[in-house]
Amino acid sequence: MPLTDYDLETLTVARHEAAHAAAAVGFPVHAVDLAHGHTDIAFPLRPWQLYSAWERAPHQTERQLVAIVGVILAPAHITREPMPARCGDAAMLQEWREEWQRVCAFHPQGHASHGPTGGHDLPLPPLPWHSVCQRAQAAINTWITAPGARAALRYLAAALTQEGAVDAVGWALLWEKPQYDPLRSQGGRENFRHTGQYH
Ligand SMILES: [Zn+2]
Repeated sequence: MPLTDYDLETLTVARHEAAHAAAAVGFPVHAVDLAHGHTDIAFPLRPWQLYSAWERAPHQTERQLVAIVGVILAPAHITREPMPARCGDAAMLQEWREEWQRVCAFHPQGHASHGPTGGHDLPLPPLPWHSVCQRAQAAINTWITAPGARAALRYLAAALTQEGAVDAVGWALLWEKPQYDPLRSQGGRENFRHTGQYH
């Protein structure tokens, strides 16, 4: 049976939301809802917390920001489709960018503990926003080019299409299946996992 426009639209949304949810390795996924084009992910930080978080722990905050930006950019980067307005990705990215640029503007000299080895050497300024995005995309690239990862993401999108919407429990039941193992690798985000804070 040929796919209807509705099926195609649903599949496009499913591919997009599957990419957000799967890329959120390490962050809890609370819900995926295809009808509303929405994936609810518990990030370890909110944009307005970036400034104080960076002052407290610059290395960790940059790693978290790169991971968060990766989750937001993942669908567009993987599917090469533009960010859909209803998912709100562009607006979300803008919020993170504005808050991060505030950190960069107020700390051009960097943080005392922010040298390459985390202390006792010259501080580094905060990573410029374009570098944050580049690192995020590189990490997503490493993750999605792992053997079997793209195929696993297609299965995941198909499974989400069947479900329509899942809550945290529904997501956990789906995500634990062995066919998604290739997506579980942290890829370029190895460092992030070792902060040991968010599982
Ligand atoms: Zn999105």
